[in-house]
Amino acid sequence: MVSRDEFIDEVDFIAAEISVNPKEIHIRKMKKKIASCSSKGRLTFDPSVLEMDRKERYTVIVHELLHLRYPKHTKMFDALVESYTEKVFHTKE
Ligand SMILES: [Zn+2]
Repeated sequence: MVSRDEFIDEVDFIAAEISVNPKEIHIRKMKKKIASCSSKGRLTFDPSVLEMDRKERYTVIVHELLHLRYPKHTKMFDALVESYTEKVFHTKE
């Protein structure tokens, strides 16, 4: 479990690693999903992500941040999520 502040720090760190710049980062209860990325660059995460283990949480964060660059779910998108998640997971201890 991480705090909201720790989580925001993780998102900032991972955003810098990926070289993307989210406009806003929100944590609030979501009905159908655990995270979303708006076309305007606003990321929203359900509070349940704070309870995920680190690998799972990073995967969700990387996924949403990569949508700032690639809106669609393609095979390449999935491959990038996987490789960036591995990278940041081993960079940040
Ligand atoms: Zn997605």
